[in-house]
Amino acid sequence: MPTKWTQGELEASVAAYMEMRRNELNGVEYSKQAYYRDLSNRFDRSAKAFEYRMQNISYVFSIMGRRWINGLPPAKNVGINVARDIENIINRLEKRRDAPVASFEVEVANIRKKKDRLPPRGNEKPSAIDVTTTRFMRSAEVVAWVLDLANGTCECCGKQAPFMRDHGTPFLEVHHLKRLADGGSDTISNAIAICPNCHRELHYGADKDQRRLVMYDLLERLVE
Ligand SMILES: [Zn+2]
Ligand SMILES: [Zn+2]
Repeated sequence: MPTKWTQGELEASVAAYMEMRRNELNGVEYSKQAYYRDLSNRFDRSAKAFEYRMQNISYVFSIMGRRWINGLPPAKNVGINVARDIENIINRLEKRRDAPVASFEVEVANIRKKKDRLPPRGNEKPSAIDVTTTRFMRSAEVVAWVLDLANGTCECCGKQAPFMRDHGTPFLEVHHLKRLADGGSDTISNAIAICPNCHRELHYGADKDQRRLVMYDLLERLVE
């Protein structure tokens, strides 16, 4: 009978995941199996169990619109509370905080699995909470420069901005190919001006890694 994961087990798993992820982002060679074995020695679970847990952590990274580790495709069967815990641990280890998304997305996915649902009543007066988030101080110069270069055309798909803002400029968004949270620089060699569809896809799309790599071939100013 599988026992409930303790906070300590979860924290050690997320810490190991983030170390492996950092290695991968920095092109440092490492062995996933060695990490699982080490965890398995510290706690009373098999290396396989930890490997599977890693795929749950990939799922949380994917919900957060972040890159997950190659070879650890997201596994979706994670409970709402565990998803929330994993996201909190990631935030704590990165010493920063995005608005929480993981537990809500997992809840939505769980509800959608249920058949024969009645239309929900929703809330006439939804309650509000304050959330504290961390953000990077971005350079307006960089955004202005990249928007000028794009000149109203998405640098990813090559199509015109999908609409004009109500004050008359084309709507494009500036995205960092290597995320600032992953140590990416806020420079024109790491920033692109793209349409909202391409932007969402680069964060959440099934082919986001492939699409990201294509950008480096497409635009000479970009440096990986
Ligand atoms: Zn586009
Ligand atoms: Zn972005």
